[in-house]
Amino acid sequence: MRDSGQANQPTEKSVRPWKLAEINYGAVRREPYEVAVLPLGATEPHNLHLPYGMDLFEGNVLGEKICETAWKQGARVILLPTVPYGTQTNQMRFPFAMNLNPSTLGSVITDLVESLVRTGIRKIVLLNSHGGNDLKPVLRELYGRTPAHLFLCNWYTIFGDVYDEIFEQRDDHAGEMETSLALAWWPELVARNPDGSLTADAGQKAPTRLDAINCGWVSITRPWHLLTTNAGAGNPHAATAEKGRRLTEVLVERIAGFLVELSRAEVDERFPY
Ligand SMILES: [Zn+2]
Repeated sequence: MRDSGQANQPTEKSVRPWKLAEINYGAVRREPYEVAVLPLGATEPHNLHLPYGMDLFEGNVLGEKICETAWKQGARVILLPTVPYGTQTNQMRFPFAMNLNPSTLGSVITDLVESLVRTGIRKIVLLNSHGGNDLKPVLRELYGRTPAHLFLCNWYTIFGDVYDEIFEQRDDHAGEMETSLALAWWPELVARNPDGSLTADAGQKAPTRLDAINCGWVSITRPWHLLTTNAGAGNPHAATAEKGRRLTEVLVERIAGFLVELSRAEVDERFPY
């Protein structure tokens, strides 16, 4: 190979100017970034077949695909490294459910927002992969205290209109939807039995003894060791890589489109109205 001596040099094609972890100060000084995207993940068990890093990997892969697409459409976006830990207070009876209390996570985000503000960024998108990360209070608390505008996208809530077109059953955690994403993007980390079936249980959820909770009129923070058998809430066995790719396409189209608009939008006193 003629260019083998440069095997470790990034080629022009491999440079990703929208990914902070891969670029240098020289590039940062040149590029006028408008929007920062901070993915938030978690480290927690996902039934018996999916890796602990699911929500972290979702943040990485979706963040990259979304920012790459938005960048190609002209958005001046910068993707920050994913926060690998989230709130797990109700999963802590499972080993290695690595918890940041809501107030701690809020402090982490507040400090990162301040760093972005010092950099001159005024538009910040929190791209959240983990249901236990309750982030709206962070937006409420920072409102009026920071010159930055914060936007929260819990991506797992934005495709209800096409959910039943893609998947057989709705689920909560480690079911058909997340397993399909894993099969699409990190299939080597999905555990299987010798016959090819997933090593997962059926992801059944136990009802509580109180009707109002089961009906959704009253909510609790659900203790996952009582709710589930092996930290799976949703049946994963109908998952396929194709379903994971279809979901990814929907998410990328929707969120990248938002980033393009957000990047172009002028920040005045009435923004975003
Ligand atoms: Zn998850």
